[in-house]
Amino acid sequence: MKAYRAALLWFAPHHEGPALARFEQDGLLVIGPDAAGRLVVLAIGDFRTMQGTYPDVPVEHLPGRIIAPGFVDMHVHFPQTNVIGSPAAGLLPWLENYTFPEEKRFEAPEYSAQAAHFFVAELLRNGVTTALAFATSHPESVNALFDEAQAQQMRLITGLCLMDRNAPDTVLNRCADEGCASRAEQSLVDSEALIQRWHGKGRLGYAITPRFAPSCTDVQLQGAGELAARYPDVWIQSHVAENKDEIAWARQLFPQSRSYLATYEDFGLLRERAIYAHCIHLDAADRSLMRETGAAAAVCPTSNLFLGSGFFDYLEADCAGFAYGLASDVGGGTSFSPFHTMLAAYYVGREGQAKAGLSLSPQHLWWQHTAGAARALGLDGVVGNLLPGCEADFVVLNPKATPLLERKTSLASSLNELLFSMIVLGDDRLVERAVISQAIS
Ligand SMILES: [Zn+2]
Repeated sequence: MKAYRAALLWFAPHHEGPALARFEQDGLLVIGPDAAGRLVVLAIGDFRTMQGTYPDVPVEHLPGRIIAPGFVDMHVHFPQTNVIGSPAAGLLPWLENYTFPEEKRFEAPEYSAQAAHFFVAELLRNGVTTALAFATSHPESVNALFDEAQAQQMRLITGLCLMDRNAPDTVLNRCADEGCASRAEQSLVDSEALIQRWHGKGRLGYAITPRFAPSCTDVQLQGAGELAARYPDVWIQSHVAENKDEIAWARQLFPQSRSYLATYEDFGLLRERAIYAHCIHLDAADRSLMRETGAAAAVCPTSNLFLGSGFFDYLEADCAGFAYGLASDVGGGTSFSPFHTMLAAYYVGREGQAKAGLSLSPQHLWWQHTAGAARALGLDGVVGNLLPGCEADFVVLNPKATPLLERKTSLASSLNELLFSMIVLGDDRLVERAVISQAIS
């Protein structure tokens, strides 16, 4: 067992109300192994009341620091680390000139391994301790990312990108084996082998990963849906309704479906643990479908603003009652930093809510990237919070990391003022360290 004395930020259980933050100026966080040998939070509260309860537990005192839940990134592209900030006139030249040539390199295991090492280190440096990530269409990239996450004992979910049409051959699923009937068939065989090898191993999870409907044939989507039915606790990740050209294209390719989102439903790909990036241009029937199926949205505000895709509609999402959380969407997104993502979410929320005289509260922004994101992933009470029983993934924040942060946070007279100062002014400098729950062997 070990304890940390610092200011503490966490969230009330969801049934007490969404996005309800708890804050203790002088707090104590006690961590230790649970019955399964995982390192979890045993207790959290104020130092003075709790100190006598754990007399023999060593305490690390972190004066002036804030301990908060590790951030959860619901949608990030591991092979696009080098693509971040690439100048292109639009989505097609961006894909052709930067993204596809870079993704092709991941067929080489050593290239994938060094990229995975950098990617995981960058996530942790920014305070992201759980991620749902895209890999490429090469199994080598999936193995490399799982290997790296396992070495760090990080909670990470990824999967083989399913893409058997409408892209250059070099980034489509390979049809390498003797007797392989099609790219689709091989990709599904490869996905199932990867599920059996990695899903549930330590803190790793597998996600069935159609890139987006237009990149997949009917046969591939059908097979992905069958796989999702056979492995109900495996995740699903894809993209939907990011921009209007993409929607028109999807409608053309799948005219039998009621909408772009409904295409996924028609192939059995909407259910709990199915995470769809963007969800910008949905209609009322789509939003009901999200709620009824238990699918969740990964909101990617830096990407949506960067590419001019549109604005996620928070009011309509809350009204319909489907789950969502925040994501960086690197490399369409512009930053690994959860602080940049939360600030961009604030801009996006203003767009929709200013008319109603509303804006997203700082607690709600923070919740979307921690406990709310975990809940949307089906990991409520596992990560993204510091309630007793949660895995002990947390960040140590230094609110005096820059002169302006120090000046501004010292003026905060409420929790919302403190959180908003960090959201607006924060970046990787604010994150002194990320602590990952380690298995006790
Ligand atoms: Zn994406």
